Amino acid sequence: MTQVRSRRLVILGSTGSIGRSTLDVVGALNGTVRVVGLAAGSGWEALARQAHDTGAEYVAIGDESHYDRLRAALPAATTALAGADGLVELVDRARDAADADYTLSAIVGAAGLPATLRAVERGMDIGLANKESLVIAGSILMPLARERGAALLPVDSEHSAIFQCLHSGTHAEVRRLFLTASGGPFRKWSAERIDAATVDEALAHPTWSMGPKITIDSATMMNKALEVVEARWLFDMPVERIEVLVHPESIVHSMVEFVDGSIVAQLGAPDMKTPIQYALTYPARVAGVATSLSWSAARSLNFEPADPQRFPALALGFDAARRGGTCGAVLNAANEVAVELFRAGKIRFGEIGRLTARVLGRHQSIESPTLKQLTAADQWARQELQGCRI
Ligand code: NDP
Ligand code: MG
Repeated sequence: MTQVRSRRLVILGSTGSIGRSTLDVVGALNGTVRVVGLAAGSGWEALARQAHDTGAEYVAIGDESHYDRLRAALPAATTALAGADGLVELVDRARDAADADYTLSAIVGAAGLPATLRAVERGMDIGLANKESLVIAGSILMPLARERGAALLPVDSEHSAIFQCLHSGTHAEVRRLFLTASGGPFRKWSAERIDAATVDEALAHPTWSMGPKITIDSATMMNKALEVVEARWLFDMPVERIEVLVHPESIVHSMVEFVDGSIVAQLGAPDMKTPIQYALTYPARVAGVATSLSWSAARSLNFEPADPQRFPALALGFDAARRGGTCGAVLNAANEVAVELFRAGKIRFGEIGRLTARVLGRHQSIESPTLKQLTAADQWARQELQGCRI
């Protein structure tokens, strides 16, 4: 077996879909990766169970009201932290006292940014699932990672695919990046039907099993919009050279076209354990728990252009990436609030894209923003989106 570098791991968002898959992957790596820190939002019981299973030295819970219950349920040797600051402190304590050298960033939404940023600041390598961090603050995270020697390894399946395909040439030899999209549950629906889709319909993803926020984002195709911005930062690629293709089978995870016309693609079963494991073991590849794609039956792979009329959210990613500055923070924050309102039954599905577009359209972007300005833009967008409903 290829030698895998041993790692001491912090998992941010360990109780979620990516977090749990990460623990499965770690379990199959035969002790080469040791979990030293775990963090979640409010699922204190699952978090305590994970601390018992892994022997993690540090755990943090975002929602402080669960601190006492969490503390009581933990092994005696585990230190508990709480609140938004507790997540950042977890990274510091795990780094300083438990030699953590790798952070798997899988908290959902803007809540994941501060601890991810701290892990980069501390020079830890990052397995990045929390794409929202890059959408908001790519202009700060990317140069900081270079300066601190922190490797940013994509977990998002499309970006993991592109990362792998890019090994076939140099940056200057790339013509285009193709991000594939399943098209979500409404791929064939009319605009009128999409507009009135219910929460249950939006949560029924045809190919991927994921947490609720990204599942709704896939239904609006806002997920792909966020991924365009993510790709722009991760691969230092002008947005004009990034394209989106709908591929309903979710087998081709993304592709890179080189200047000679060759297109290199990465294929596999739609199973997040593959990109999670690759981000953890890179540059090594080892057998693990991910599903192997079966070719025993006939299989066709289809590709079609995305429809900007029925999925207007997609254009917002290109717009935000082109305008830069604080636009990514605004796009992400407005979408987060709109998704919450939709899930709470307060707005129609179609309004997620429309309201987010309105907020982004009204935004006066600030060039080369500081973290404080990005946070202010995030707050402004949240209030503005609430205001749009009145
Ligand atoms: P889930 O909703 O399944 O999990 C989210 C995790 O974040 C949970 O552990 C949750 O804890 C934690 N969390 C939420 N809010 C906070 C907070 N304020 N403070 C601390 N922790 C918090 O989401 P996913 O696993 O699906 O997605 C995670 C990230 O990975 C997202 O950014 C998503 O875009 C990205 N991603 C996911 C993919 C997937 O297949 N799922 C694919 C590609 C990217 P708790 O539940 O205990 O409150
Ligand atoms: Mg993806």
